[in-house]
Amino acid sequence: MPRYVVFGQPVGHSRSPAIHRAFAAQCGLALRYDRCEVAPAAFAEVARDFFARGGAGANVTLPHKAAALALADVADPAARRAGVANVLTPVAGGLHAHNTDGAGLVRDLHERQRLTLEGRRALLLGAGGAARGVAWNLLDAGLAELLVVNRTERAAAELVARLEDPRAAAAPWSALAEAAPFDLVIHATAAGVLGQPLALPSGLVAAGGLAYDLSYGSAAAPFLAWAARAGVAACDGLGMLVEQAAEAFAIWHGVRPATDPVYAMLRASMPVAASLA
Ligand code: NAP
Repeated sequence: MPRYVVFGQPVGHSRSPAIHRAFAAQCGLALRYDRCEVAPAAFAEVARDFFARGGAGANVTLPHKAAALALADVADPAARRAGVANVLTPVAGGLHAHNTDGAGLVRDLHERQRLTLEGRRALLLGAGGAARGVAWNLLDAGLAELLVVNRTERAAAELVARLEDPRAAAAPWSALAEAAPFDLVIHATAAGVLGQPLALPSGLVAAGGLAYDLSYGSAAAPFLAWAARAGVAACDGLGMLVEQAAEAFAIWHGVRPATDPVYAMLRASMPVAASLA
């Protein structure tokens, strides 16, 4: 049976095995998908060993996404520009790295949230791996403007410089209220995962706009509570999680599975965001 894995630390919370097993059942494919918890110092060796023993594909999550790109022999444009990869696949020339986060987010925004990105004004909070993984795709989808705001201002400025797009700009956190309102506010920081507070003004989201947290589960609760207090529509990153996994599944198996049934299965076990969506 072909073997797949998700590498991370910690990785016990990862929904990737459940998602890929559900996709495989739907498509009538037999596969094995496991979690592998590995420390940064051991990641490269463990990953190389997995593929040397015939591993068919790997998802990669924190903190190994930059190391995954470094390990690869060839990378798709999305992984190269983001500087991080979340999918590794053995190919004839070695290991191929992909980044499917941006495609997953845009698909969730379009298909599940029914949000048109064309001509919209968006705020991206954060400039880490996840923010870099989605920024280009958001611009490619036709945004009129993308403002990047990050706790460490230099990282936001660096991301905007790499985007090389006149629609993108960076601003300090203190300028948020003045720059509002936005049609779309994307929360891509790790504050929720780390259990740290995030200070956001209330008028960030325009009437009819959407607040979107890339996190899900309890990590998304503070941002979703802020959105509820501000009286704006909001959702967590569960849809993006399922869509980015479907992109990886398509790379590995040549077929894109139906995501709605798998999203519904996961949502049933994560009612926090559902009650606010
Ligand atoms: P990362 O590379 O470690 O970046 C962390 C980012 O969060 C940086 O911009 C950092 O700012 C910022 N940050 C950390 N603590 C903060 C705080 N207390 N206040 C304000 N900003 C803070 O992590 P990542 O890979 O970008 O992941 C970010 C989130 O996205 C995680 O919750 C992850 O689970 C989620 N994610 C979801 C999906 C999905 O499929 N739904 C996919 C990828 C990631 P500094 O530069 O100042 O340190």
